[in-house]
Amino acid sequence: MTTFRAVVVWRVLLAAVAVAIAWGSLLPSEDLPGNLLLSDTLLHLLGYLVLGALAVLSRFSWPWALGIVITFGLALEVAQGMGGSRMFQWSDLAADALGALAGVLLTARIVREVDARRADRDRQQKRQTRRERRDRQRNPAPKRAMNPVKAAARRGAPTWQQVAQRQGGKCWLCGTRTYEQDRARDAAGREALGATFPCVDFVVAVESGGTYEDANVRLAHRHCAAARRANPSLTQFGRPRRTYS
Ligand SMILES: [Zn+2]
Repeated sequence: MTTFRAVVVWRVLLAAVAVAIAWGSLLPSEDLPGNLLLSDTLLHLLGYLVLGALAVLSRFSWPWALGIVITFGLALEVAQGMGGSRMFQWSDLAADALGALAGVLLTARIVREVDARRADRDRQQKRQTRRERRDRQRNPAPKRAMNPVKAAARRGAPTWQQVAQRQGGKCWLCGTRTYEQDRARDAAGREALGATFPCVDFVVAVESGGTYEDANVRLAHRHCAAARRANPSLTQFGRPRRTYS
């Protein structure tokens, strides 16, 4: 009812009904269409009730709506008084005023009620939106913990130093310590690593779908890890001997 388009529609209707009433009022009485079943007074009452209602729906304040409609009725009666076949009738004017009053007051009441409810709903909606926004600000959606496999993949393959730091320096297969001194350089300056030098071993081999997660990563002697790779069913690992000393 409050939208611009609705108001335009109501005003067009108001004008149309006003024209129809003026047309009906100013025609010579013999020319009125058909034999009207309703009495003249009742017609006045109904016509001006509708007119008053439409004036309020067209967003005139109720005193204005009432004033305009009654003035309109008065003008028509005066015109009838000046014209030929019809005349000014106080009873018609009274019916106009009564109809207008009823239409205006009833409709104004309904419009006020509807407006109040709509405003109430808007207020509640705004409050709700504000509350939701505040809640979102207070507790933003928790960042989802990254999948540990993905996180490990992103970190990349751990170095033996990292694994040794986390798990200690012992080989997980034979249970004895690893030696990072077990290495040497050959004549060409290339480094050679010995059997007891530490390396990273995977519980489930990476080739078989093993991940870089801590749970899958172990420190081992190069010798022990190689022995396990060569024979995965091996369960006993002897302590290897240092290659370089
Ligand atoms: Zn070992």
